[in-house]
Amino acid sequence: MDTPSRPVVFRLEQVTRTFRMGDVEIQALRGVDLELYEGEFVVLLGASGSGKSTLLNILGGLDRASSGIVQYRDTDLGQASERVLTDFRRHHVGFVFQFYNLIPSLTARENVAIVTDIARAPMSPDEALALVGLEQRLDHFPAQLSGGEQQRVAIARAIAKNPAVLLCDEPTGALDSKTGIRVLEVLQKINQELGTTTAVITHNAVIANMAHRMIRLTDGRVSEIADNPSPVAPTELQW
Ligand code: ADP
Ligand code: MG
Repeated sequence: MDTPSRPVVFRLEQVTRTFRMGDVEIQALRGVDLELYEGEFVVLLGASGSGKSTLLNILGGLDRASSGIVQYRDTDLGQASERVLTDFRRHHVGFVFQFYNLIPSLTARENVAIVTDIARAPMSPDEALALVGLEQRLDHFPAQLSGGEQQRVAIARAIAKNPAVLLCDEPTGALDSKTGIRVLEVLQKINQELGTTTAVITHNAVIANMAHRMIRLTDGRVSEIADNPSPVAPTELQW
């Protein structure tokens, strides 16, 4: 696959993000240059504190860069109004976090419906839950589901609005390897079947073998980008 010839979804130029805490300045991102392409599956690697979550939050419009350019297709996210940014988050981006953030008093189906109720062209909650292999668990509450199943509900919730982009921050961080592999299979399937541009943060370098590209952050900068000509299925990963 000739990745660089594909349409660019995100273009970042010299992106910085500085946090000020009293007198202390933390430079979480120190000049990130990066392009993400339509339909690709990228894994973001890097030590704790290297800026991975900060970068993902900026891509998803949860946070803004301190300087530099963050372009999503034709939209300059850095210059966008709050309204445009909200619209971007709501309709174009799905988020998956380490701790599933499900509402305990709602069933799997109801947790997904929260999002589909405000989306423009959503799947049905049942359809989204079937995609992640939970068609038998529609009426279960989070407490009646395993960690891996809860994460799959969270993925169903993220993809049910048919987002162009799926951003996952350590989605397998709280799971054992067998369950983590099942979750990664779901992410790979969604990328392949729906063409959702997918970025996954992980500590586990092995996971890069299932991605089209690996992007490594070191100290707030991109230190390495590697194409993977032959991504494997998660079940093939040597965990
Ligand atoms: P990673 O996800 O790679 O572990 P982060 O992007 O979370 O790294 O953090 C990068 C750096 O920025 C760290 O030093 C972290 O403490 C700091 N940081 C992140 N978010 C904030 C924040 N909201 N306020 C202050 N410092 C932050
Ligand atoms: Mg993080």
